[in-house]
Amino acid sequence: MRFRTRQVHAGVEPDPTTGAILTPIHQSTTFVQPSVDEYMAKGYTYSRSGNPTVRALEDRLTNLDAGVDTASFATGMAAINAVFLAFLGAGAHAVISDVAYGGTYRLATHVYTRFGVEFTFADTADAGAVAAAIRPATRLILTETPANPTLKLTDIAAVSELARDRAIPHAVDNTFLTPYYQRPLELGADMSIHSTTKYLDGHNATVGGAVVLGSEDHTERVRFVQNATGTIMSPFVAWLTLQGIKTLSERMDRQSATAAEIAGFLEAHPKVDRVAYPGLESFPQHELAKRQASGFGAMLWFEVVGGVEAGKRLMDALEVWTLAENLGSVESLATHPVTMTHAIMPPEERERVGITDGLVRLSVGLEDPEDLIADLDKALAAV
Ligand SMILES: *Cc1c(COP(=O)(O)O)cnc(C)c1O
Repeated sequence: MRFRTRQVHAGVEPDPTTGAILTPIHQSTTFVQPSVDEYMAKGYTYSRSGNPTVRALEDRLTNLDAGVDTASFATGMAAINAVFLAFLGAGAHAVISDVAYGGTYRLATHVYTRFGVEFTFADTADAGAVAAAIRPATRLILTETPANPTLKLTDIAAVSELARDRAIPHAVDNTFLTPYYQRPLELGADMSIHSTTKYLDGHNATVGGAVVLGSEDHTERVRFVQNATGTIMSPFVAWLTLQGIKTLSERMDRQSATAAEIAGFLEAHPKVDRVAYPGLESFPQHELAKRQASGFGAMLWFEVVGGVEAGKRLMDALEVWTLAENLGSVESLATHPVTMTHAIMPPEERERVGITDGLVRLSVGLEDPEDLIADLDKALAAV
């Protein structure tokens, strides 16, 4: 069956006892066992180790992102942490995209380095740079594409091939495009990571994360960490996320179409210096964006003429757009990465990878494009 049908139905059966069309929120700590000999007969023992509502979401994500299984977590960061714990230990080394979510950078540099793990932040847009960064101790390659916030792309198939040749697992943070537009496992990657907080929920209602896995071996490792560390997703969050995913394709298509319109408007505006949106011909990796994904997404960024001060004035003048961290929801949000999501990165590191002081990141929501553009137009006039 096709994606739109699966996003509504995969993982969920009408409840066998009542016929309820939605999977109930199984808010229960423990599950009664019929007898000692029939332990686990119904598949559940204790909610840290597995819960039917959470399982329904995991099965849906496995189906949509072409995996063999999915492990879900309390947040996207907990999902990334579980991948680190499953594959890294003292003396190990990992290669990570030099542009990545600020929290990923923080987890690596401020937590894991304390335990003797080493990292190379490589320009994963260049497969040669990834190959050059690999050491004998490399146990994980983590790429983020499109990357937060510059939207730099990694060629998933090229990096997966060189990872496979060296038997190093390749995990892709697929948060920005979701399985509707991009399926890393089909391109050869081993894991697809999601902050379900973003497009999968889509309504700014939850925080959650998931790792879609491509092999039984990796599933065992990540599930072991999930149960051992207990950073699980709650049944209520799983239930809300199941509802959000039902409209994923419709939201992504509408929000992306609006993002394309806004990118065009900004590109033609005299007070705008630079605009980056993978759907623009001017985007340096436009061809790769077309090749490895079926849509361009609803994230873009621009720089205002006049630098940081002008950028701040612009953001304060916005009314329809909301100044907030997060992305991927139906509410359009504007973010200043340097002071908000990427404040943890040292300034010289940010400068090196193109996260400039004047960069304004937009997450385009579901409002009328006319209202969003009029608001930007008015705010640009005020700077
Ligand atoms: C938000 C985000 C994360 C972290 O997810 P949380 O749910 O906030 O913990 C990881 N990667 C990317 C690309 C993100 O945008």
